[in-house]
Parts: sequence; C-alpha cells; structure tokens
Amino acid sequence: MKILLIEDNPGDARLVREMLKEFSNDFSLDDTERLAAGLQFLASNDVDVVLLDLNLPDSNGLETLTRVSTEFPLTPIIVMTSVDDEALAVQAVRQGAEDYLVKGQIESTLLRRALVYAIERKRLQYALERSEQRYRLIVETANEGIWLNDVGGKVTFANQRAADIFGYSLDDVMGRSSFDFIAEDLYPVISAKLKNRRIGFSEQYDLKMRRKDGTEIWILVSATPIFDAKGKYLGSLGVFSDISERKQAEERIRDALRESWQKQLEIEALLKGSRAILEYSKFDDAARSIYNFCKNLVGATGGYIALLNRDGTENEVSFLDSGGLSCTVDPSLPMPIRGLRGEVYRTGKVIYHNDFADSEWLNFLPSGHVPVENVLFAPLMIEGKAVGLLGLANKPGGFTENDARLASGFGELASISLLNSRIWESLQQSEAKYRILVEASPDGVLSIDAEGHVVDCNEGLCQLLGYDKARVKGNDIRKFIPDIKPAELTAQLINQEWFESEFEAVRQNGQTVTLWAKGVAIVDEDGKLIQALLYIRDIAERKKLDELKDELIGLVSHEIRTPLTVIMGGLNTLLSEGARLSGEEKQQLLQDAALETNSLAYLLGDLIELSRAQANRLALNLEPVAIKSITKSVVGKLEQQTTAHRFVIGLPPRLPKVQADPVRIERILHNLLENAVKYSPQGGEIRVFAKRDKNNLVIGVSDQGIGISQSDQIRLFKPFERLENRDIEEIKGAGLGLMVCRRLVEAHGGRIWVESQKGLGSTFFFSLPLKKTVK
Ligand code: ADP
Repeated sequence: MKILLIEDNPGDARLVREMLKEFSNDFSLDDTERLAAGLQFLASNDVDVVLLDLNLPDSNGLETLTRVSTEFPLTPIIVMTSVDDEALAVQAVRQGAEDYLVKGQIESTLLRRALVYAIERKRLQYALERSEQRYRLIVETANEGIWLNDVGGKVTFANQRAADIFGYSLDDVMGRSSFDFIAEDLYPVISAKLKNRRIGFSEQYDLKMRRKDGTEIWILVSATPIFDAKGKYLGSLGVFSDISERKQAEERIRDALRESWQKQLEIEALLKGSRAILEYSKFDDAARSIYNFCKNLVGATGGYIALLNRDGTENEVSFLDSGGLSCTVDPSLPMPIRGLRGEVYRTGKVIYHNDFADSEWLNFLPSGHVPVENVLFAPLMIEGKAVGLLGLANKPGGFTENDARLASGFGELASISLLNSRIWESLQQSEAKYRILVEASPDGVLSIDAEGHVVDCNEGLCQLLGYDKARVKGNDIRKFIPDIKPAELTAQLINQEWFESEFEAVRQNGQTVTLWAKGVAIVDEDGKLIQALLYIRDIAERKKLDELKDELIGLVSHEIRTPLTVIMGGLNTLLSEGARLSGEEKQQLLQDAALETNSLAYLLGDLIELSRAQANRLALNLEPVAIKSITKSVVGKLEQQTTAHRFVIGLPPRLPKVQADPVRIERILHNLLENAVKYSPQGGEIRVFAKRDKNNLVIGVSDQGIGISQSDQIRLFKPFERLENRDIEEIKGAGLGLMVCRRLVEAHGGRIWVESQKGLGSTFFFSLPLKKTVK
C-alpha cells in the first residue's frame, strides 16, 4: 500500500506514521507539507490512497480537496480534519472524499480500516462507472430500440433508436403507454403480454406496431420483466427490432410459394387433362374428364361441354353438370348459337361475365334453368375454327383472367381430344370400309412382313389356296407360293415401289394354280419395308379365254376363208373364162357362190348375235310367230344342199303361235337343222317336231347321225366348244352355232337341251314360253 500524506503539522505526520507501523510493515508512506508538492508527487508516483489535511499553507478548506480530486479523480482521498471542523468533513465526503478522520481521535485500527475501505470503495466506484459507461454505450449505439416500462406499462426510459423506430422524439416517447404503439385490435394481446411480465415471464414475439404517423411496422419484441431484490415487480425491459423488411420478404416468399403451389396445381390438372386424351378414345369420355379437372382447378360449380351441330346453328350438349342444382330444362330444347356463346363461336376467344345475373343475356335462359351468377366460355378450336364450347358457371367470387387463361388451355385439350376422336372414328370407318372391300373381293389380298410371314389375308385368298384363314395367317408365304422369294420381293418393292408377276401356287389338294400377283410396299419414314401387300388373281380362266380367243380367230378366219375361196374362184373363172363357159356351167358357178355367200352371211350373223348377246344388246322384235312356216322355209333351203337326208316336218296342224322374233327363230332352226345335216354324214332322217307342255311350246330337231357322248353333252352350248371327235374332224364349224342358239332361246325366256347317245343320233330341244310376253 502506497500512501501519500499531505500534512503541514509534523507532529500529526509522525503520529500517523507511528500508527501505521503498529499494524503492518507492508506500506510506504511519503508526506509533503504543501499541496503543490503533494500534487507534484502524485503526478509522478503511483499512490494508492491520499491522506489529506484540508488546511495547508498553500490551500485551505474544501478547495484543497477539489484540487486533488479534480486532478486525480481515480485516487481515493481520506480527509483529515480537526475536531471542530466535522461539518466541513461531512461536506468533503459529499464532494467525493472517501472518508474523513478527526485528528486526536485517530487510532491505529480505525486508520487501517479507513485506508483499506477507501481504496476498496474507490475501486468499486470506478468499476461501477466503467460498467455503467459500457452499458450506456451499448444502449445508445444499439440498432435495437430499448426501453423500460414501469409497472403500469409506461415508458420510463428509451434510447434514441426506440424513438426513431416509432417516429417520435425521445421526449415524446417518455411516459407513453405501451398501448400507444399498437392498433386497438391488438390491445388484448398487449394486456396478456403485460400479465406475462408480472408473473416473471420473458418472451420474444413478432408484433405489428404503429408509428406516430399511423403507419404500421413489424417489430420483433424481446420483453423481460424486472424485479427488485425483494422480488417486487418493477416493470419490464423491451428491446425492439424493426423486422418490416424481413416480414415483407417473408410475405413475398409466402406469395411466391402460394403462386408456385397454384402453378403446380394448374400444371398437374393440365397434365391430367392431357392424359385423359390418351386414355379415352371417345370424345365424350375424355371431355368429361377434362371438364372435371378444369372445373375443380378454377373453382366453378357447374358447366357443360357442347359441340356445334352439322349446320352450325345449334349447340349439341355432350354432357351437362348442373353442379347438384336442379335443372328442369327440356333436354330436347334447341340451344341456339347466340348471346355470349355466339360471341365465343365468332371470336374464338374465351369470354367470362361475372354479372351474368344482372345482364341482358339472362333473357336467353330457358325456364327451369339453374340460376346463373357468372359464366365463362372457352372455345374448342379445330383448324382455327370454333367447333364447340367448354362452359363453366357459378364460381364463388367470380372468374378471373387467370381462369380464362386456364379454361382456354383446357379448351385446347378438349379440342385435341375431339380431333383425335374424329380422326379415330373416320379411321375406324375407313378401316371397316376397306376391310369389307378386301373381304368381299374375289381376288386374294394378303400382307406379308419382310421375312415373308403372312400378317393378314382375306377370304378370297383362302378360297384360291383351299386353306382356312387360320392356317394361312402367320405361316410362311412360300408354303403356298413356293416361287416367291421374300428377300428379292422386298428389295424390288423398295426400289420400284410395286411389282407384278405370275406365280404357281400349290393348293391344299396338291393342285397347282397359275396366279397373277401385284405387290405394293408399305414403308416407314426411313424407307424400310413394314409390310408388302399382295393382290392375287387366279388367271387359269383368263389364260383359257386367251387360248380360246386365239382358237376362235383361227376357226373364224378358216370358216371365212373357205367360202371366200369358192366365191372368189367362181367369180374369177366367170370373169376370165366366162366367154368359153356354157350357160349351165355359169349358172352352177353363180349358184355355188350364192350358197357360200349365204353360209358366210350366216356365220357373220352368228358372230354379230353372239357379240350382241355378250354386250346385252339383243333386242328382240316380237310378234306372233307361226313355227310351221319358218320351219318349212329353213328346211326348204337345206334340202337344196343335201340329197343324203330326208327331212320330215312332224308339226301338228293347229300349232299355237308364239310371241317371238321370227328372224331369231329362223336362225335357231337353221343352226340346229344345219348341225343335224353336218353331224349325220351317213344321211338319214332329220325330223322337226313340236309338243306343248304346260306353259311352253317345245320344238325338237332329231337326226340319226354320230350322236354325242354323255360327257360331251355337258360341254355343249358354251362358246367355241367343238367336241374332239375323230369322226367329225373333217366337218367344218366355228363352234358358234349352239352358243348362239342358247343365247337366242334364253332371250326369249326359253331353254335349250339335248338328248343323245353316241352313234345313235341326237335330238336338240328348245322351249318357247306361250303366254308370257318376253322382252
Ligand atoms: P360347229 O357345228 O360350228 O362346230 P356348234 O356350236 O353348232 O358348232 O356345235 C358344237 C359342237 O357340238 C359341234 O362341233 C359338234 O361336235 C357338236 N354337235 C352339234 N350338233 C350335233 C349333232 N346334231 N350331232 C352330233 N354332234 C353335234
């Protein structure tokens, strides 16, 4: 302990030194007689405590204390005074002295305690001041507003920041109640908080407070109760942070979250709607599902989907959702395109109306209609034209622009579904049409894959091959048509898109058939063959026909050339040698020529009749015909050409007339009688007879010639059929006669047939209807 004694009385100084020595050596004592020397000492030495006599030669009274304490405020001072100056001493303590000692009453223990206490008190005081200074600094510079409330909630202290936060001056804040800083609706909150404080509860909370100008401010409040040492509630400490910005940011985040949530819902609903397009091939099903997603998302309570009818004058409701309300409108009532609906159809744009109940449109609602507060219509567009509507109604609070945007999206989905279903329907119809066509085709139609497996085929093909469809499908085509080489076929199809060829096919019964096939390729985008389609036709008939035609041309030209040779020969002879020939010879030549001309004319006549019949242009000139007279005329002509034959006309006397074309009847009789002559080279009787059955007149021509075998009889009456018979090889003929007879008889509504036995002659019959008038 370092002590400085400033004392001008040496006796007192000595006394102090003696007393100090009594209790300790652990001190140093310096003394000065004058204040100036004391101050000088203090300036250059560390001193723990000063013992100061107030009355010195160079300073007197409290002035002495003031000078020391002003210059060395951190050094504790104990004032020493004489007995009669006690009042002065007390005043000195008030002005900062730590203690006072009365000279003459000082004793060792008292001195020691005074010194120790003075040092300790000064140290404490200093520490307290420092601490107070620190806290003050914290409070003054804090970014938080800080105040103290008394028991009743009145502000007893506030820092500048607190005043700034609430927009008051510091003075104005003082004494205000906590309730002055909040809106009335929050009073109960504050009352509850103040109660919490009273029971010792600290808390932190966000509070919407009010600034002086009435604007709102979000504050994070930290409130702590204050109690005295005895536990008495004194009030509370409030610390305030302005969190308006944070709150705004929070609000923005919340808004963004809400918006993103809404967007997510919208996307989800749109996705579900898109899925419905894929899920349902029928428009009505997809539309109902899309409508529901839209209705729920937008928050409407009812609506419908309708399509424009064919002539574009009315809506045809695909389905209607009255939203659980009763709707008694007659469903068969037309839904004309007018009002808001008309506008949507015209503009192709979404329209909504939130005051529908007060609008002119209300007049268009039929009686029994669900009450309508608001409506929204989105068009269903195909190729830029509105072809239907998605209608929504009765959304609580009304429709918004966003709803319009969404409904337009769902309208688009419904349009896609409509387009899809229409394409699907027309595809199905077209598929069905082509399937029927293919199935009904007498030609074979089949598809094969690149490896040559039959993917599909029609009934025509199965009949051609003699297999069941089940046996053909999936099988290798080479099983049926061994000539086909799938790899070559594929390559050829890809190179030139189609091919045509003839193949031999093996039927189930082992028979081979000649086929004509035409193939086309179905290729993918990369030009790779997916399937080959083959059209197959049995060309046996055609081949036979071709052969027959060739044969006919040969026969006919032969048949024409023979009489022509006779005619030309006769005429040439007459021309060149006429002068030398006798009249009889000339006559003979002319007669031969006339006969051949006749048979030529007949042949040409047959050809013409046949081609007319083929073209369905056999026009009969019907009239009542007497068979007998025609028979006589034909027989008369033929009798001139043969002497080997005997003609008998065995017709009854009263033969009824038939309604017939006399020229054609003559041709029939001529052909049959001529054949009878030709095919009975040995001669014999040729007989014409007739009989009546119920409705017909049946005429018969019999001969005693070569006859026709049973098997050959079947082939008669077909074009160009000449029976292969050695006996008749030298007999001329084009194979036309019987065919012409058959066509002519049938044109009259009759029938022609033969009864014959080989070697025993033949009888040809034909019938002509008696009553029926024929064309
Ligand atoms: P064409 O006499 O010119 O050969 P048709 O059509 O008149 O042709 O007769 C077809 C075939 O029918 C004849 O080639 C012949 O073989 C057979 N035929 C026709 N009439 C008789 C008949 N009266 N007796 C035997 N065979 C006949």
